[in-house]
Order: sequence, then C-alpha cells, then structure tokens
Amino acid sequence: MHLFDVYKIREDFPILKRKIYGKSLIYFDNTATTQKPIQVINIIKEFYETYNANIHRGVHKLSQEASELYEKAHEKTADFINADSWREIVFVRNTTEAINLIAYSWGLQNLKEGDEILTTIMEHHSNIVPWQLVTQKTGAKLKFVDINEDGTLNLDNFHEKINKNTKIVAITHVSNVLGTINPVEEIGKIAKDYDALFIVDSAQGVPHLPVDVKKINCDFLAFSAHKMLGPTGIGVLYGKKEILESMPPFLGGGDMISEVYLDHSEWNELPWKFEAGTANIADGIGFGAAIDYLSKITMKNVREHEKELTEYALKKLKGMEHIEVYGPPAEKRGGVVSFNVDGLDPHDVATILDREGIAVRSGHHCAQPLIRKIGVHGTARASFYIYNTKEEVDKFIAVLETLK
Ligand code: PMP
Repeated sequence: MHLFDVYKIREDFPILKRKIYGKSLIYFDNTATTQKPIQVINIIKEFYETYNANIHRGVHKLSQEASELYEKAHEKTADFINADSWREIVFVRNTTEAINLIAYSWGLQNLKEGDEILTTIMEHHSNIVPWQLVTQKTGAKLKFVDINEDGTLNLDNFHEKINKNTKIVAITHVSNVLGTINPVEEIGKIAKDYDALFIVDSAQGVPHLPVDVKKINCDFLAFSAHKMLGPTGIGVLYGKKEILESMPPFLGGGDMISEVYLDHSEWNELPWKFEAGTANIADGIGFGAAIDYLSKITMKNVREHEKELTEYALKKLKGMEHIEVYGPPAEKRGGVVSFNVDGLDPHDVATILDREGIAVRSGHHCAQPLIRKIGVHGTARASFYIYNTKEEVDKFIAVLETLK
C-alpha cells in the first residue's frame, strides 16, 4: 500500500543528509525525540527575524502578530486531538511538566489519606515520580497494575486493583519500552464507573496514532511537541474545561492573573491561568507548524506506515536466534522495538550500531520498574517515524546479523 511518499518526506528533514562516521544517518531513536522538518525550523527562524515580541502585553503590531500565532497554535492542537475548545489546551514545557501540574494542582487540592492512585508498572518515570511526591504529601496510596507475559496490560489485575477509594487512574497510552498500545477507551470507562479522574500519558500516543480526547473520554491528556516533529521546550496538557477551572494555579506570576491586590489575586481565564510568565512563544508557534505537517500526512497514515515498518522489523528479528525481542505483536504495538543480543550489553549493541550510522537508544528508558519486571538490566530500542524506510530496517538487521 502506498501511504505517502516517504522519500519526498525525507527531503524536508535536513538532518537526514548527515553522515555519521562516513555512513548515512539512520535515525531510530524517535521515541526519545523526533527530527524536525524544514517547515518547523523555518517558522521559528521567521518568528525571530520578523515579529519577535512578547505576547498579550503590547498594543503594537509585533506583539499582536505573535499573540495571534501563539493562540492559533493552541487552536491547532485542540483540533488535532478533537478537544472542545482551545481553552482546554495548556502549553507547558513537556509531558513531565503536564503530569506534575495535575499532581500538584489537582492532587494536592483533592487527595487525602485513604485515597488511592492507580497506575501501571509500564509507566515512564514521569508518570510515577510525581505521584510518589504527591502521595508523600497527602497520605494517599499509589498502586500499580501488572502486565501479562506478552507485555500487554493485565486487565484482570486492573479490575482487582480499582475500587471505591481510587481517585485517579493515570496510565500510559503507549509504552515507550514495549510499544504496547493500551486500551485507553476501555480503561477510561472503568475509571468513570468508579468516578476516578482519568489521566492519559500520551507522550507516545498523540505523535503516532489518531487521538480523539472525546472518544477516550479522559479528563487529562499529556504529550510533548518534540516527539512529534516540533521543537523541544513545548508540551501540552489537555484538560476538561470544568476541571481546569476548578483547579488552583500551578505557578503564580505574570500573565496568569486578571487582578492583583496586595492581599490576594484573581486568575486569568483558561488556558492562561496555567501559563505563568513569558511563554515559549517561538516554540509554541513552531509546534503549530509541526501539527500542520502531520495533519497533511494524516495520523491514520502515520500509524499505518509505522505499523508496516514494525511488522517488517519484527518478522526479520523473529528469525534471529541470538536476539530476544520484548513486547506484543505489531497490531498491538506502536513503532517501538526493544531487544537484546545474546551475550552483549545493550549499550555495546547501541555503540556497534552507532558506528554504522544507526542511532538507537539503550538502557532503562526511564522505566526502571518495567525493566526490572522484564528481568533484564536494560534493552536496546529501535523506534520508527514517518521518515524511516524498509531499506533502513534492512541495514539495521544486517548489522545485527553480524553479532551472531
Ligand atoms: N511518557 C512517556 C511514555 C515517554 O515516552 C516520555 C519520554 N520518553 C515521557 C513521558 C516524558 O516526556 P518528556 O521528557 O518530553 O517530558
């Protein structure tokens, strides 16, 4: 099936022309961060060259232009995930900050002793540590749902662990280690049966799958621009309007207020109530261009392309006896392949691949509880995106063949 012209897309990514140790770069570390197309790079350059100004503060032309485009990026984000309104889109630094915002603002206000937060053992540290910090402050308890042998979520265990004390269900959309795509709609329904707040860490979801927050019926969804062709330093917290309105601010200062008196202040309207201080204006606008780029390809095609590559890679790896692959089959996983080579440390595997120009990640991938559960010290991880090709997978497999 011809989804889109991957070779034409590659032309938009200047970094893909780089040579690494004299070899063409094969970038398979997309779970960590993705490369940026020229359209995103140019719009950031254009911002600084032609209308750089602070937003919401000036009547002058430059400030108006910057404000308009920064707000427009919120609108594009809202459309992209089918939110009701752009006011439900809070720009933060990254997924990590988004989850911390919920934990400190909603969590500290609403959690008490006896309450429970339910998450899973396949989480990234950014969906574990904020909850540890908040449970230490509130006396609430943190519980973890287990996984099955094949790396999928153990739904029976989820049913066993959720109860009337569960105030928050916080779960990853897609595992950054195993690639497992979690059944978030189904989990959300169960969370709602227990009146729990439903939070989705979509750092690996929104960049790779069509995502509709209304269908998922989540209260919050967090993701990072840099994992979806956008710049670093900008991320998204989507929240249902009535919940965001009920929450106290996370950070105080300029831009997040409507009135300040000496003894108290009143808050600005959404989303500015949660965007204190000078925003990351250039990168917010750059993120808007990344969304435009992905929308043009369509997320359905992004998913299909990654699935094809993942199926292809898994099939080849399956025939290699010296390699162990972790996680579910391609239809249940995103474009992530974690593996180990017999007798080799994952860092050595990554170093050998690097010498051939192939960038993969190695280690615990910020998911130590999951790595312990798998029973290894770490894995090597190849992860794909829209500009990767089957020929690149072939070259990757050829290097792994030599490690027999
Ligand atoms: N959650 C998941 C599932 C991730 O893969 C990552 C990044 N590897 C994060 C959260 C954290 O993202 P960021 O570092 O952009 O905050």
